[in-house]
Amino acid sequence: MAQLPNSLEARDTAFQLHSYADARRQEETGALVIEKGEGIYVEDINGKRYIEGMAGLWSVAVGFGEKRLVDAAARQMEKLPYYHTFTYKSHGPSIELAEKLVEMAPVPMSKAYFTNSGSEANDTAIKLIWYRSNALGQPERKKIISRVRGYHGVTIASASLTGLPNNHRSFDLPLPQILHTTCPHYRTMKKDGESEADFAKRCAQDLEDLILAEGPETIAAFFAEPVMGAGGVVVPPDGYWQAVQPVLKKYDILFVADEVICGFGRTGNMFGTETYNLQPDMMTLSKALSSSYQPISALLINDTVYQPIADESHKIGVLGHGYTGSGHPVAAAVALENLKIIEERDLVGHVRAIAPTFQKRLAGLAENPLVIETRGIGLIGAAELSHEALAATPGALGAKTNAMFHDKGLISRNMLDAMAFCPPLIITEAQVNELFDIAEAGLKAVQESL
Ligand code: PMP
Repeated sequence: MAQLPNSLEARDTAFQLHSYADARRQEETGALVIEKGEGIYVEDINGKRYIEGMAGLWSVAVGFGEKRLVDAAARQMEKLPYYHTFTYKSHGPSIELAEKLVEMAPVPMSKAYFTNSGSEANDTAIKLIWYRSNALGQPERKKIISRVRGYHGVTIASASLTGLPNNHRSFDLPLPQILHTTCPHYRTMKKDGESEADFAKRCAQDLEDLILAEGPETIAAFFAEPVMGAGGVVVPPDGYWQAVQPVLKKYDILFVADEVICGFGRTGNMFGTETYNLQPDMMTLSKALSSSYQPISALLINDTVYQPIADESHKIGVLGHGYTGSGHPVAAAVALENLKIIEERDLVGHVRAIAPTFQKRLAGLAENPLVIETRGIGLIGAAELSHEALAATPGALGAKTNAMFHDKGLISRNMLDAMAFCPPLIITEAQVNELFDIAEAGLKAVQESL
């Protein structure tokens, strides 16, 4: 990308350090600068239009340019642009949103706690779990288990939960109390001759073996996404959750469902918890909660979690935790309006209606010889490319394909060589076809260029 002096691209390179980028490469190539968006499309500063095939970062459920969210923010800005929820204070939007989320929860939940990002929600979950263990007189019960390739954020604790090397390497992570168990990706993790059903059972056995090796009385909680997102869209094999959940129950280990991507319709139910019949004690929510129009996240906790925490805060005299922006009134007002849109337009029913086309077109990408596996559910999916097709370096072919998709007007995201697709939930059937027509053409062009 040629950078004109004083252009936005040049100023971006000069002044901004980016997330999930190679800073030296950034200095050379610059960034794609997006200016506006409408529906499933965004437009860059040069007027080129793209399908936002990732809904931003798996998040803009109702699409770009939704006026009702703009108006909800403006109304709240005028009335009360900021207030907090510390020290026995509150405000309408946070109260309404807490009530709404507890009512929407697919399993009994007792309280909502607000944070500003998925990372903070998971980080707060860990702190509350540790606080609870102390409250219960079980100070040794502090270890947390998550999964290899799980993604739970980037704060010191949530990055430790995340089971991806790039989030640990050179950051001196993970924290020693955080352990990782087997990733439920059948193709890469199965043993020779192991059936999918046996693999699902072995994942649960691996979890139990880890618990026993560490000492069950030291394990406080298990964190997992119903469907893994940023680790490459890993849909668990049949029988996985049925095998894993009894292990947690057996050792009295709390289950935290990270619904940051799955929540609010993505998998064809309001929550991934419903899709997989999960019984979490806590749920973390963000992204589609406000369609990312405002940064907001929430943690739902059941009564088993709440009661000891309440007792401990009473004993100490205060729950010493909270963010200035927790339950921010503008973010909460936008989230409430966003949830109204999701319900009024029955976006969950829409996902269910359109998912068969989405999944069929995704599976069709496997006709290209570069594609070695496709996987997905609802309106989320990935096509895994054979990295050997280009070079031994994992991720090189994914990056090349990503650039080709961009050229052809589709914003996707390569997690190494897995090309992810996670469009806004409002996408129409015709637009699903438009998205995959571009992906097919892009893959063909990459294949021909090799
Ligand atoms: N959990 C999951 C499942 C996520 O996908 C993400 C973000 N991709 C997070 C947590 C972290 O959220 P944030 O980037 O808002 O901190």
